[in-house]
Amino acid sequence: MAHTHPGTALVTGASSGIGALYADRLAQRGYDLILVARNRERLNALANTISTRSGRAVEVLPADLGDRAALARVEDLLREDASITLLVNNAGIGTHTPLLQSDVEQMTRMVDLNVTAPMRLAYAVAPAFVARGRGAIINIASIVAIAPELLNGVYGGSKAFVLAFSQSLRHELAAAGVQVQAVLPGATATDFWAIGGRPVENLDPRIVMRAEDLVDAALLGFERGEAVTIPSLHASEKWDAYDAARLAMAGQLSSNTVAPRYAAAR
Ligand code: NAP
Repeated sequence: MAHTHPGTALVTGASSGIGALYADRLAQRGYDLILVARNRERLNALANTISTRSGRAVEVLPADLGDRAALARVEDLLREDASITLLVNNAGIGTHTPLLQSDVEQMTRMVDLNVTAPMRLAYAVAPAFVARGRGAIINIASIVAIAPELLNGVYGGSKAFVLAFSQSLRHELAAAGVQVQAVLPGATATDFWAIGGRPVENLDPRIVMRAEDLVDAALLGFERGEAVTIPSLHASEKWDAYDAARLAMAGQLSSNTVAPRYAAAR
């Protein structure tokens, strides 16, 4: 019996690391693919490998997502291609360099790629998913979204945006049949570290996960319908308690009276 075709997944940052593995694993699950990144040669090589192995249709869309015109081309495709059922917002850069040693122009480019691009791509695709009552968005955040002291603060802030945006999107879109997942990888063995100025070999190997393991676990979380997936966190009850505390506070955060601890001087 023929299975329902899962549709087409558009994966950003698919030319290497985590994104390339998403592409591979999604093709294995029957998705056709649109692969986005800057490096055309690497995208073409990956597309050939994956389509040969899986028999799926794999297109490449070379684009610098930090460039507004190139980003707009990807947005247009997300609005117009009705076969797209899954957006994986994965492209991103990071660094461990502290604020005072990092260049603000470079930090701004990081925000363009890590924040503006996934936000605009989600904006482009969400109305189409809602209209069809079907679709999913996977946003690759990071554990620094909840532990910004670990690396560069702009990087942590950009990933906190991705987490908060995902939580809000999920809240708004769930009733329309659209699934949203935020993935928070810990240190993962990819080029990310060398590009950010600290090769992964310099990290304690006990905290570094294989990218294959990260993506396989994250996709299991996706298939289970998780809102937030942290593959490297063993004590899942810690996240549950953190999230429960946040939600319990949510209804008490606004008030027409000042909290007593600030009213003492009046
Ligand atoms: P990676 O191997 O360096 O991959 C990054 C991908 O993003 C590449 O495909 C790169 O392709 C693409 N990219 C970079 N700049 C781009 C641009 N301006 N326009 C379009 N594409 C661009 O690193 P990774 O570890 O797989 O990173 C993937 C995601 O995981 C990132 O969002 C990162 O923040 C997140 N993450 C990584 C770790 C980790 O420890 N590795 C931990 C937590 C979160 P091109 O160079 O071809 O453009």
